[in-house]
Amino acid sequence: MNQEVSIEQLFSVFDESAVLLGHALSITYLEALGETAENLFHGYVMQEELNDVDEKRLQKLYDNVNLERYSYSKELIRKSYQLAILKGMKEHVQPNHQMTPDSIGIFISYLMRKSNGSKRTFTLLDPAVGTGNLVMTVLNEFDEMVEAHGIDLDDVLLKLAYAGANLLQHPITLHNQDALEPLLIDPVDVVVCDLPIGYYPNDVRAAAYRLKADNGHSYAHHLFIEQSLNHIKPGGQLFFIIPNGLFESAEAKKLQSFLTEEAYIEGVIQLPESLFKNKQAAKSILMMRKKAPGVKKPKEVLLASMPSLTDKKAIANIMQKIDRWFSAQQKG
Ligand code: SAM
Repeated sequence: MNQEVSIEQLFSVFDESAVLLGHALSITYLEALGETAENLFHGYVMQEELNDVDEKRLQKLYDNVNLERYSYSKELIRKSYQLAILKGMKEHVQPNHQMTPDSIGIFISYLMRKSNGSKRTFTLLDPAVGTGNLVMTVLNEFDEMVEAHGIDLDDVLLKLAYAGANLLQHPITLHNQDALEPLLIDPVDVVVCDLPIGYYPNDVRAAAYRLKADNGHSYAHHLFIEQSLNHIKPGGQLFFIIPNGLFESAEAKKLQSFLTEEAYIEGVIQLPESLFKNKQAAKSILMMRKKAPGVKKPKEVLLASMPSLTDKKAIANIMQKIDRWFSAQQKG
């Protein structure tokens, strides 16, 4: 049975429930949202500490949108959940832990589809999965064709990813650990990652990486790139969301020579500034392929700058340029 429900209506169920649970259990909005998503998945109120009035109110809310009975689209669920996460992040979240906007995930899925050619199933890793919004956006585009792994240190964000994956019925294995420690994950076909930017505090662990800094703390984002290359199959594809100044920092020379040995940089696409707080916070997508016998160096690196998403004509021009680049690569 299908029931018409809007993103706003489903958002208000997430929101009302998270506010109520937050007050009743003295937890943050984001923690309460994770609990809410679990309740919605199971179809009943799981928190035994609630009084009868609150429990009945929540149960009524959940019954109205019964996710099991009505077949809502995965994008409707993801978008409503995303809105609620955004609200929670305004309350309290570290700048480096921000959720990846879905427009970026949709664009990466497009690049992935173009470069994957006819390959219909693949394994995917996001070593800084956070709330899971980036990976779920990609999984919604590819649906059952992907077996995914996500890693994150932040247990509140990982709970949101776990509860979200259940709601969307995506097969993703989540690991609550430091992604720069050894990983028990088989090499994957594709890595996507909105890199955490900044220093990695664990110098002892950083010493295991070729991209460790010669003095002081190393850049976490450089180590994440190296770790991703350690966990991808030869010929596998990597899509990183990077700061625009990645190749201009003090450690950039070492990063560049490491990448020249290990991978082919296929493209650097600047994202529209309007997606970020300011010019300094603006980011790009770095598209790479791990070297392997038979994998050719791209004839030229795809360099593009995405215009504002509201400028339809400029977007169409850039997409044509990107399509032409992919066609030229495929012609060999
Ligand atoms: N793509 C994510 C999403 O849509 O929610 C957002 C990723 S956010 C920009 C970066 C993430 O890296 C944060 O969730 C943070 O907790 C995680 N992180 C930072 N250092 C980490 C580490 N050493 N190991 C694992 N995760 C880490």
